[in-house]
Amino acid sequence: MIIEWHTHVYPPEEAAADSRAWEGKNLGPAWDGRCPMTIDNVMDAHRRSGVALSVISNAAHYIRYKSDADELKAVQRWSDYAAELQAKHAGEVLGFATILPAAGPAMVKEAERAIRQLGLRGFFIHSNHKGIYPDNDAARPFWELAEDLDVPVFIHPPHAGIGEEFVGEYRLASSIGRPADLCLAISRLIVRGILEDFPRLKLVGSHGGGGICEVIGRMNYAYELQDEAYFLGSYAPMKIKHEPGYYLKKMYFDSVTYHLPAARMVLDTVGPDHFIYGSDAPPLTVLKPRAIQMVKEMHLPQDQEEKVFWRNAAKLLKLSEAELAKLHAKQSEPA
Ligand SMILES: [Zn+2]
Repeated sequence: MIIEWHTHVYPPEEAAADSRAWEGKNLGPAWDGRCPMTIDNVMDAHRRSGVALSVISNAAHYIRYKSDADELKAVQRWSDYAAELQAKHAGEVLGFATILPAAGPAMVKEAERAIRQLGLRGFFIHSNHKGIYPDNDAARPFWELAEDLDVPVFIHPPHAGIGEEFVGEYRLASSIGRPADLCLAISRLIVRGILEDFPRLKLVGSHGGGGICEVIGRMNYAYELQDEAYFLGSYAPMKIKHEPGYYLKKMYFDSVTYHLPAARMVLDTVGPDHFIYGSDAPPLTVLKPRAIQMVKEMHLPQDQEEKVFWRNAAKLLKLSEAELAKLHAKQSEPA
């Protein structure tokens, strides 16, 4: 059985919008009337690949181009639409609310509404929003809420972040800029003590963590050496009680790397209980079979492969026994 952790949908009016017009900049993705992030594309790829359940989230690349006053409306609109899709495709689709963690009390209230009232199953946050990273003190009420609600928080890059002035060519914003921003955001959540202060958080990194599992050794020695590495700069104020790798292992990561050695490194770093299959399809709709194949090519023992393909996701999503039984029954029906 497969649970798909990573697919994106836009509300129809955002899918129809031409991002080239935003603030006169040509930074946003230009859909030219063909935005791939639609529920129809999700369901089509889902059925063709034999997926049992797809989690839909909204990467909301458009949100950085909204005025502060319009952000909340855009967030509410997606939550309502995600709940609508969850009801329409009951048993096949679960939705995450897209939340801006540092946007103040009204946003935190909206986050609570999305879970408690609308029944969405988790939060999607950007690795940074308008230059603010989610370790910002303004985001602490959000982290408190996420821990209280006990739902997963899926951290994912926005359209562009760190170094975006250098990634405008050759699709580097997607291939390099976004993972780099995510890696930075996760490292900041660790050293700034968010995972220390909110130990029950279920934080899930997209794209295998954007390289954080490769550089974690450097983070560890930067912490461990303290005065011996004075020339690397200050480590104050100290916010953590363990080396960064300790907190990294509390996190979960999806498999969206499209590179087998990278996926193996993530799994080796955090273990099979914290590694989750995902494809990022749509928008990368044609790549979904490749994403599934890559996990198969990891040649994991069966119990581990099951964890990666669905058991870990099922646990994070808190699927009930009844929900799981339905998914299993549906999988065994002839197509
Ligand atoms: Zn994505």
